[in-house]
Amino acid sequence: MRESSKASILPTETKEQVSGVRLTSICLDTAYPALPTPLQTSSGSLEVAPLITIQVLTDCGIVGESYLFSPNQTLLPALSEAIKAVFQVVQNDPCLPETITDKVLQHFTLFGGTGIVTMAMAAIDMAVWDVVGKAVGKPLYRVLGGASPEVTTYESSGLGIGDPNTIRQQAESFLEDGNTIMKLRLGYDALTDDMQVLEMLTSAFGSSVQFLVDYNQGLTPREAATRCKEIDTFGLLWIEEPVRADLLEETAYLKAELQTPVQIGENLWSLAEVERALRLSASTYLMPDVGKIGGVTQWLRAATLADQYGVKISSHLYPEISGHLLAAIPNAHFVEYADWTANQFSGHTRPSDNRLKVSDQPGFGLSA
Ligand SMILES: [Mg+2]
Repeated sequence: MRESSKASILPTETKEQVSGVRLTSICLDTAYPALPTPLQTSSGSLEVAPLITIQVLTDCGIVGESYLFSPNQTLLPALSEAIKAVFQVVQNDPCLPETITDKVLQHFTLFGGTGIVTMAMAAIDMAVWDVVGKAVGKPLYRVLGGASPEVTTYESSGLGIGDPNTIRQQAESFLEDGNTIMKLRLGYDALTDDMQVLEMLTSAFGSSVQFLVDYNQGLTPREAATRCKEIDTFGLLWIEEPVRADLLEETAYLKAELQTPVQIGENLWSLAEVERALRLSASTYLMPDVGKIGGVTQWLRAATLADQYGVKISSHLYPEISGHLLAAIPNAHFVEYADWTANQFSGHTRPSDNRLKVSDQPGFGLSA
């Protein structure tokens, strides 16, 4: 691991301000907000957003808030237990997120620092960063050195696999808000179906809309070689996760064969995996998921690593949190905007004209 990716994130002055704050207890709850538009992908469907909401309490009265999204609702109880177990490791520790992350990773070395432990660590890390912002009275992007609350977004709330007319209507409604960059899920049973939807959209919208395409890991490497080559002439902004996320060599091969940029990252679970993807030149861009990579601390370290390779970073979900991160890094690309948590958090904001204004409340501003 390049050591510079582990350089201190928290400014010294902020560190001094929060080091006296200690984490005392944690409160968890679950929520199942219905997706405004249920989403079908090539690897499964979503009708609700199964969430764990997290509150980390401190000895100074500040409450840090965060949440985790689990595509599989049945894993919420296991995730909750994991969060409680990880919190025990750092209970009564100072509110220093980088120290907390490193302690948790060290503590769970034998178990392995990926999967459910990483998500549990992320839940706590995100809440701790929220405490930091609240303790110094600044939105997180400003704590992290960001100057502007505005980030560039693409619409990811719809355009699932399904009826072409519905897809077109959704694209029209996104366009009404001025959002001209949007993600389309592909991976229909046949390549001809993928082509039909893409041709329908490009003939309906022409150059007024730019599309990104997500296969959600649904293709075999052989299928991907055929399908991605066929859609390579559509001027897509990227082709996302064409094959299983751990097939980095195969993804690197596709990237080398295609004109269209390749995007992966939402299923990279550690800095070591991020660095392996970068070393293999597996993807044109990366889009780590703040929940799966281990929280804000690990996400920012991943972004620093990617910057050393000249790779731009986007986010995956968590728009209320990810917006702050994109607003604070030099290699920012897009915030993935999905409206799944719009009815859950009062601080959720919607983009217009491909721009999202992140909260100016202290911390993330989840409960603004
Ligand atoms: Mg994706």
